[in-house]
Order: sequence, then structure tokens, then C-alpha cells
Amino acid sequence: MIAVVKQTTTSEQLDHLVRWIEGKGLKVNISQGENELIIGLIGDTSQIDPFLLESMDIVERVQRISEPFKKANRKFHPEDTVVDLGHGVKIGGGHFQVMAGPCSVEGDNLFAIARAVKKSGATILRGGAFKPRTSPYSYQGMGARGLDLLREAADELDMPIVTEIMDPRDVDLFLDRHIEMFQIGARNAQNFPLLKEVGKTKTPVLLKRGIAGTIDELLMAAEYIMSEGNPNVVLCERGIRTFETRTRNTFDVNAIPVLHYLSHLPVVGDPSHATGYTRYVRPIAYAATAAGADGLEIEVHDCPSRAWSDGAQALTPEMFDDAMRRIRLIREAVTAQNDVDGEADR
Ligand code: PEP
Ligand code: MN
Repeated sequence: MIAVVKQTTTSEQLDHLVRWIEGKGLKVNISQGENELIIGLIGDTSQIDPFLLESMDIVERVQRISEPFKKANRKFHPEDTVVDLGHGVKIGGGHFQVMAGPCSVEGDNLFAIARAVKKSGATILRGGAFKPRTSPYSYQGMGARGLDLLREAADELDMPIVTEIMDPRDVDLFLDRHIEMFQIGARNAQNFPLLKEVGKTKTPVLLKRGIAGTIDELLMAAEYIMSEGNPNVVLCERGIRTFETRTRNTFDVNAIPVLHYLSHLPVVGDPSHATGYTRYVRPIAYAATAAGADGLEIEVHDCPSRAWSDGAQALTPEMFDDAMRRIRLIREAVTAQNDVDGEADR
């Protein structure tokens, strides 16, 4: 972090500022430019509030040099992280996986959906047992019974499960059922007690970007989980809220290469919540794959018109099968270059 100090600063004021910075356990490097006096803050600046520093009378502006996220940062961990979900399913570092299933677990139709998506090439079963609904009157999910159904269906097919957790008090409920991957939904992307609680486990976490969350906020949310000791975080771009109203959200395809550049964590795209309409899900799934995503999360329902949530964006098993064939082709095209260059285009 550097602080540019105003020309009018007296040496007494400067000494005072330097002592304040040193009092925070940091070293100071002062350089006198032609027009500016620059103070470099050396050491762990995470304890310094840049806004507080900038609010000081003698400080003109403050600039961060290193990002506030450390554990998620590619600078300190250049190689891609590979997250292992068990059942032979790894994600990241060249391993591409598709998570598919209904928005909500509704009952026995889960088994038919799970069999269909597995047959088409999905490797991780998704389904919500605890649903974060905008309205308290909408369907809230089956709860623990939904987790049991997921477990039964996934065991039959030898698949890992990804399912949303909303309450830090439910961690044991999920662990008791050996849920392979927690999903932290967009609405909970900054639920810090929840992030910390899943961070105390070693269970992989699919961390979704907040509805109006920046890329840096997503990385800082990952940092919350990782700083508690859980390195198994997968980031998910699921669309952000913009001024556009023709789609449920706007898929930020930029986020995929940007996250890969900034972080070593795997990045997954969710074209279902990003678009909100069945007709747009497949093209955006292809775009995410082409942009280098390490996987996709796609909602599939055997009868979308009867789905208890998000029917408008569900693919039928037939559509999903078609999508998977094209996704495989796109994936092949994107990774073919790796053989030539020896590494992904990051
Ligand atoms: C979901 O996956 O069903 C979900 C609610 O996703 P998001 O948190 O991205 O809205
Ligand atoms: Mn959904």
C-alpha cells in the first residue's frame, strides 16, 4: 500500500504519520518524487483501513499494491487448485465437471432426474433441500428429508452431491449425511458466520457470486472460508443484477478469465440462474465452457412446468443430453490448444 502525502505537509506531521504506521507493526519507505512525497507501507497491510488513512488531512490518496485476498490469490499459489469430491470426481486444473439436477428436491422424481443426468455425463448431483426464496410464502425446501433423498439417489449412482446450506447451525446435519459439497448461494455470499462455519470443515464448498457482488467481494468471501482452514473452494459465476430486465440476471462471462487470472481456485458457470429462461441456458452454458470454466451447474427437471421452483429455467433431460454433447465438443476445442502450449491460456 502506498500513501501520497500533500505537498504542504510539515516534517512534524510526517513524523506523526510515520509513527502511526509503525505503531501498526509496519515498516515505512519514504520517497521524495519531483512533485509528490510517497510513503510505502511494507508488511501485512490487511490491518490498515485505506479509507481511514485517506481521510487524514495530510494524505492525498492511498493505493493498494497487493490485493487483500491472500489465500485465494494466484500470486502466492501459481498452480491451479484441484478440488477432490471423492467418487473419482475432481474439479479444476484441467478437470471439468458438470453438476446437474433439479432446483429443489421434491420427492421421488429426483431418482429419474439423477439417472438421466448421469447418463448424459453429469458427474455431480445437485438439488436444493434448503431453499433461499425471495418470498417467505414460496416453497422453502424439504429440509433434512431432502438431504436423505439426495444421499439415496447419489449413492445409487455413485455420484457426489452439491446442495445449498443456509444456516451455520446445519453444518452437522450435512456432515452426518456425508454431503460432498456445500453450496453457498448468491444470497448468502456475504453471510460471514456461514462462510466461517463451512471454513472450519474440510468439505468442498461451491461459493456463488453475490447477486450484486463484485469479483473482489467473491474472492474475499472465498478468503473467509480459506482463512478458517478449508482450502477446497470452487467459485461460481451465476449472473449478476444489472439494469437489464429481459433475463433474470446478466451472465458475466468476463468473470471466468478474470477469476482464473486472479485466483488459483476452480471456476464454475451457472447458466440457469444467470438467464432464468430455459431457452437461453444452453447458449450461455456453451459461452462459459468456451471461456474456460472448470465446470457448469445446470438445473434439470423431468417436467419443468410442474417444478416447485425455477421451472422456467430448467432443461428437460433431453435438452440436457443435447447440451452435454455440445459442451464436450467445446471443451475439446478449448483444451486442444493446451497440448500445443503446454498450459491453459491464463
Ligand atoms: C440454486 O442453485 O438453486 C440457487 C438458489 O442459486 P443462486 O444462489 O445462485 O440463486
Ligand atoms: Mn434454482
